[in-house]
Amino acid sequence: MAANWKMYKTPAETKTFFENFLPLVKDAKHCEIAVCAPFVDLPAAIDAAAGSNVAIGGQNLYWAKEGAFTGEISGPMLKTLGCEWVIVGHSERRQYFGETDETVLKRTKAAIEAGLKVIVCVGELLAEREAGETEAVLEKQYAGGIAGLSAEEKAQIVIAYEPVWAIGTGKTATPEMAADAHRVIRKMAGADMRILYGGSVKPDNVTALMAQEEIDGALVGGASLDPVSFSKIVNF
Ligand code: PEP
Repeated sequence: MAANWKMYKTPAETKTFFENFLPLVKDAKHCEIAVCAPFVDLPAAIDAAAGSNVAIGGQNLYWAKEGAFTGEISGPMLKTLGCEWVIVGHSERRQYFGETDETVLKRTKAAIEAGLKVIVCVGELLAEREAGETEAVLEKQYAGGIAGLSAEEKAQIVIAYEPVWAIGTGKTATPEMAADAHRVIRKMAGADMRILYGGSVKPDNVTALMAQEEIDGALVGGASLDPVSFSKIVNF
């Protein structure tokens, strides 16, 4: 169960979140929990979550280890800080920051080389779904962004299926729609791959989504910003 805080919260708000959140999930043994926070909040998050059952992750990284890349953050930097996870290829990065399947693969390889586990995001636009292209889009994103990983590298990722039209919109894919898309991904990724669903997951729809055998977990944006709401999702 992973949180994507996007560009929300200050370090002080991060500290307060964990003070409230950790007691609510301390008995959750059924899943791994990760909170992917903005870069500036990572030290506060890592400090607050130390010794708990909650791992911390970044939301992006650059593929070089270091160098003249103003404004970028590398895998070794995240790892050294104490991150365990990083999100790669979120649809907001694809839409607004020029992320492509090719750069998804580069970032994912660099993250794994740095010792991070990766949440690789895929998902179709509304127009693509309406044109009946969902399966083709997922196949293309997998072929370009994931298939180039070795078996050892694939063991270090989870895939998040996030239909773009369901992110931050309040529109959730029905559990059946999500499961159909997960089956398409699983056919390519294999039985061992963990596949998360993301897109307006809330405390009141998580149980129906998680009841689908194909859905192994959730990547949660808006509803992860509130400790009570995210704890209800974790403890579905
Ligand atoms: C996300 O940011 O990955 C996401 C799924 O957002 P939301 O839960 O707000 O739709």
